[in-house]
Amino acid sequence: MKSYDAVVIGGGPAGITAAMYLARSACSVLMCEQLAPGGQVLMTDFLENYPGHPKGVKGYELADLFIAHLENLPVDRVVGAADSVTGPAGKFITRCAGHEYAGKTVLACTGARHRALGLEREDELIGRGVSYCALCDGNFFRGQTVAVVGGGNSALEEALYLSKIAGKVYLIHRREMFRGSKIFLDRLKGTANVAILPDTIIAELHGDSSLTGLTLRNVRSGLEQRLPIDGLFVYVGIEPATDFLPAELQRDAQGFILTDVEMRTSIPGIFAAGDTRSKLCRQVITAAGDGATAAQAAFIFLEQL
Ligand SMILES: Cc1cc2nc3c(=O)[nH]c(=O)nc-3n(C[C@H](O)[C@H](O)[C@H](O)COP(=O)(O)OP(=O)(O)OC[C@H]3O[C@@H](n4cnc5c(N)ncnc54)[C@H](O)[C@@H]3O)c2cc1C
Repeated sequence: MKSYDAVVIGGGPAGITAAMYLARSACSVLMCEQLAPGGQVLMTDFLENYPGHPKGVKGYELADLFIAHLENLPVDRVVGAADSVTGPAGKFITRCAGHEYAGKTVLACTGARHRALGLEREDELIGRGVSYCALCDGNFFRGQTVAVVGGGNSALEEALYLSKIAGKVYLIHRREMFRGSKIFLDRLKGTANVAILPDTIIAELHGDSSLTGLTLRNVRSGLEQRLPIDGLFVYVGIEPATDFLPAELQRDAQGFILTDVEMRTSIPGIFAAGDTRSKLCRQVITAAGDGATAAQAAFIFLEQL
């Protein structure tokens, strides 16, 4: 079994940064990533708030830069999903893609995944009109009518992105006020092919082999109306990807990992960084910052072993 100072699980901004910092501190590092590295950045059309990119940067371009930076450093990589972390501090075993890797420390940087609406037939219609990623699937709806559901920045940003591809975009939100930034909301209000439907929930999805429409319900009046659409993009929050971690690891009520300010979890030697931990602001910059802090804390832990 190969043995490392640190096993970093997840190759998004948090994991890439943590791996870079550890490798630069002369630690042996394995990064285990189930998909291509880049994380949610690969699902983001355009980022306008990552420092050093005054004109903004495309998500895949930023991910490429992160990966190029990582490739300059001695970090072993394995493609696969980590499905368990066991063992005592200093002697953790991570199972990934059918193999076991020993790590004196483990850094959980597994981010978060989109939450589903929980509607009947939602699962069946994924890939048949229902999507959680405008960047991945938006192009299938060129010139067509789509709806985006959600009230945070992801929903607003993706509605703007879709407005450039689709013929018509409905933005559906269960409240009157949006949580997302005013700058995005103002842009949407000024976009001719976007209609905003506040105080509205989706009561039903329609369509046999593919999505053909929605039943919308106004939460104030209770009135229902049918809306024919071709695509629905769901952005109603995220949940952490932490099932593979020990059950005794402390989490908050939503399942996000609890850490101190140095990214230490309730299990000595296991650190968590990025969207997967309980925190206020989930962005690329904060994930990278967490990754750097977690790496430094792990380095100190290794020195004390
Ligand atoms: C549509 C959208 C738009 C966004 N726009 C912006 C923006 O404009 N600006 C901004 O700063 N942020 C934006 N964000 C948020 C930002 O992308 C995230 O906050 C950031 O990517 C979090 O980084 P992370 O490394 O913590 O997690 P992630 O990026 O989620 O990366 C986690 C990685 O872990 C991997 N993984 C998960 N489980 C396992 C496992 N068991 N084994 C192995 N690998 C695993 C995943 O495949 C993933 O690659 C946006 C997000 C989305 C979805």
